[in-house]
Amino acid sequence: VLVLGIESSCDETAAALVEAGADGHRRILAQIIASQEAEHAPYGGVVPEIAARAHAERLTPIIDKVLREAGKSLDDCDAIAATAGPGLIGGVMVGLVTAKALAMASDRPLLAINHLEGHALSPRLADPALEFPYALLLVSGGHCQILRVDGVGRYRRCATTIDDALGEAFDKTAKILGLGYPGGPAVEKLAATGDPFAVPLPRPLVGSGEPHFSFAGLKSAVMRAAESGAYAAEDIAASFQQAAVECLVDRLKIALADMGEVSALVVAGGVAANRTIRAALEQLASAHGLSFTAPPLMLCTDNAAMIAWAGIERLALGIGGDPLDISARPRWPLDPQAEPVRGAGV
Ligand code: ATP
Ligand code: MG
Ligand code: FE
Repeated sequence: VLVLGIESSCDETAAALVEAGADGHRRILAQIIASQEAEHAPYGGVVPEIAARAHAERLTPIIDKVLREAGKSLDDCDAIAATAGPGLIGGVMVGLVTAKALAMASDRPLLAINHLEGHALSPRLADPALEFPYALLLVSGGHCQILRVDGVGRYRRCATTIDDALGEAFDKTAKILGLGYPGGPAVEKLAATGDPFAVPLPRPLVGSGEPHFSFAGLKSAVMRAAESGAYAAEDIAASFQQAAVECLVDRLKIALADMGEVSALVVAGGVAANRTIRAALEQLASAHGLSFTAPPLMLCTDNAAMIAWAGIERLALGIGGDPLDISARPRWPLDPQAEPVRGAGV
């Protein structure tokens, strides 16, 4: 099977062609990720209107280029998969409408993919040995959740954040320290030169019996530490990252004890690109006798290969295409049964 994937839910315009064979092989034939960082940097964050316009300008040429690089045409594809939510609605609409047009023109099924499902299944694109069920830490710019993944479309949310996502906390810390946008990689780089125990910062919810997350208090404490002038920026960055790691590990311990047997601990989403976090999770997994999987860095942040892959997983189960009048969704929880946690986002 060959699936064209399209991603446009935030500030990356991306297209990819992913192939999978009956022998279990999976291969990214071509992929392009065009970041809009330069457009949004002056504003210190993603501006939805600018993002939607940039997606509209770039997406079609990127799709053409991906097909050309792979030496394929639309007719070679078995389906067209696109992010249908959650995300910034203007951008999602651009990608979904484009996918609908291509599906119609080529008479191929349209697969409307949940962006979070793309992140959640991305480790299986990289690691064919990864079997269900697995424990998933999904840490990105908009989400911070622990899920039990029983299969495609079968997700049980065990924990979420009651305020900010961890990626958001990284981005705000970067802003406070004057590191610019996007913040995660910059904070990680600076943290490598700092002392992770130099600045006393809180570990919100650590020790609580429910495995949820909270990062708003940590962010405020970073702000106060920076304003005090008493600490070097690299020590603040390192101490912030250390506090984040300890929160993740502690919350995961609670969730793992609660979720039943799983084969692996898996991390996905943009924050999964962080090497210190990956190392800590790997250690936690081995202490629990679990294997550990993290996608390669390029599959952690937003990309279209994970969207194409989620489409391939659906096709493999015989789940067919979506109706061409399906709508883009700004919000779309992976686990619709999940109770909101004190008004937190899904
Ligand atoms: P969502 O997937 O929840 O809709 P998103 O698509 O904006 O949100 P991703 O692209 O998956 O999020 O991840 C981007 C986030 O990952 C940003 O907040 C960014 O700061 C963070 N991030 C990226 N690289 C790193 C890193 N090396 N260390 C920590 N955080 C990182
Ligand atoms: Mg981005
Ligand atoms: Fe994402």
